[in-house]
Amino acid sequence: MRTFITIFIMTIALTAFSLPQQRKGDDKISRENEEEFKYLTEQFADSKILRYLVPGFENLSLKQKTLVYYLSQAALSGRDITYDQNYKSNLLIRTTLEAIYRDYTGDRKSEEFKKFVVYLKRVWFCNGIHHHYSTDKFLPEFSREYFSTLISATPSGSLPLAKKQENGQFIAEMTDLIFNPEVAPKRVSLDPSGDLILNSASNFYEGVKQVEAEEFYTKMKKEAKKNKMDTLISFGLNSKLVRENGKIVEKTYKTGGLYTQAIEQIVLWLKKALTVTETPEQNDAVKKLIAYYESGNLKTWDEYNIAWVKDLNSLVDFVNGFIEVYGDPMAMKGSWESIVNFKDVEATKRTEILSNNAQWFEDNSPVAPEFKKKTVKGVTAKVITVAQLGGESDPTTPIGVNLPNANWIRKEYGSKSVTMDNITDAYDKASQGNGFLEEFAFSAEEVKRSKEFGHLAGNLTTDLHECLGHGSGQLNHGVGADALKNYHSTIEESRADLFALYYISDPMLVKLGLVTNEEVAKAEYDSYIRNGLMTQLVRIHPGKNIEESHMRDRALIAHWVYEKGKSKKIIAKVTRDGKTYFRINDYEGLRAEFGELLKIIQQITSEGDYKAALELVETYGVQVDPELHKEVLKRYERLNIAPYTGFINPQYSLVKKNGVIVDVKIAYPVDFAKQMLFYSKRYSFLPVR
Ligand code: ZN
Repeated sequence: MRTFITIFIMTIALTAFSLPQQRKGDDKISRENEEEFKYLTEQFADSKILRYLVPGFENLSLKQKTLVYYLSQAALSGRDITYDQNYKSNLLIRTTLEAIYRDYTGDRKSEEFKKFVVYLKRVWFCNGIHHHYSTDKFLPEFSREYFSTLISATPSGSLPLAKKQENGQFIAEMTDLIFNPEVAPKRVSLDPSGDLILNSASNFYEGVKQVEAEEFYTKMKKEAKKNKMDTLISFGLNSKLVRENGKIVEKTYKTGGLYTQAIEQIVLWLKKALTVTETPEQNDAVKKLIAYYESGNLKTWDEYNIAWVKDLNSLVDFVNGFIEVYGDPMAMKGSWESIVNFKDVEATKRTEILSNNAQWFEDNSPVAPEFKKKTVKGVTAKVITVAQLGGESDPTTPIGVNLPNANWIRKEYGSKSVTMDNITDAYDKASQGNGFLEEFAFSAEEVKRSKEFGHLAGNLTTDLHECLGHGSGQLNHGVGADALKNYHSTIEESRADLFALYYISDPMLVKLGLVTNEEVAKAEYDSYIRNGLMTQLVRIHPGKNIEESHMRDRALIAHWVYEKGKSKKIIAKVTRDGKTYFRINDYEGLRAEFGELLKIIQQITSEGDYKAALELVETYGVQVDPELHKEVLKRYERLNIAPYTGFINPQYSLVKKNGVIVDVKIAYPVDFAKQMLFYSKRYSFLPVR
């Protein structure tokens, strides 16, 4: 499970930011030595591109650096999988667009060509032709006719034509895929009135209806039970469900199976990583991950996860696999991703305090006793420095992750929760002085509070969300993790958010020394309410509803507490000079509302109450007030800020002497398009057709 940054990003007061020592060794960087590190590199459509620093990389041992290098290669090797999982024609489309970008012989300075470049950048940004957040298909701003001239002026040897395909046929095929709004209009449809699978373009099912997929897995679980096999495995997590010769079968992602060309590369780098692991536990985990990729066996996947949770002493750590299920409307199939990182030892002291007290938080939550964990096992939380993003987590990334996702492993062995401080740091630095906070905050007092405490409040909320929230509570016997289907992700995120919101103003945090005064919690409440009721709407197109799970979660919570607290005037809606603001009158009352909703949501989760989840999400988390929406968009437009952020990864290279690795260098590229083209050239392993 993962946390994304909210649209509200605090602008923090900073003294001039100087470069950390460890970056001086790098050629590229040493030239701009005393200058400020350039975080924001460009903006296009609704997106901006940032770079992130990897402070502390130079201080790692050679062995640790080498491990980061091998794992970063494994992370990049799965890139194509993400494109293909998102939509079956994404690789074909990307390859075509890149060929034009590279080899088109016509005018590259025209307005039309610029529009083409923006479209390609959006495809890179979203790992396909659907918006990474709304999951709607986005269309190019250039015309079909222009697209046809682009193809005609690109050498056909560069284009991924099918066998015996004429240029004209190719143009027709690609035009339909790219321009036709009826073809694959949505990547993930969560609309319960239609067939979730047939209405979703994501590539986890083919020729299979929702009811057939449900039957398939119900039967599989029943058989497993009957044969006394493991019924706890995450059924369907690493496969595509297809109809073949009239029969429905699973195509497993593994070496020798689906995506073998990419998985073989991942395994190759993991095997190299085995030679430089830091601890026996880490070695064991990597071995099991390799065994899983080679067998496709989900029981081995669970064994790997257990081994991974037990590896607590390695500084370098990583995520690599088919993990999050947000891309599947049925919340069963894992999207491939990788995040390579190492522990920020100093900052981790903050999260260790939380995890050491996990049981206290569980015992004292407002949740009904029967839904609480009697013993919270090994919630380990750390602050990490991200070194490489890959797959679904690249170029857009979460800011916090809590894994593994399997509930039974979390319950019995615990989970690892991370907060990605160098990523949130890049967000903060890049957003300084963009005027967003000043525009939407009700008062100068709120602005000041946010500048002083917003950064800490945000990080603490992420810590609480990931390290305690997701790990809290338990399911009733017999309730499966997929019981809430299309509402699962929203409810799960709400549960973790509410846990964090409830506790951020708890005196316990002061007692633990994590918070010095009540302004921290107030800063978080201000920003959460403002975002959930108002500012996150900047991400929604006029006339659309809220679709993405984390956004639904935030809307649900903010609207619920706003409505429930109306009679007590907990939150006031204020209009000033024709602009809408939300002001919190009663912070303690608000906290009580958060607690009340947490109780309800935990019950829904524990009981797997689909109907209650539907009602709650559809009532509070989906609808948009069109008048307020219009106003917010207008106010936002004047600020000229792109609401979505993607990242350029650092680039690692081995330094060898007489064939022996003597160092690993890190560089910070500045050109997003160049990095994307480099990745496509170097790490394209899957067939395009
Ligand atoms: Zn989460």
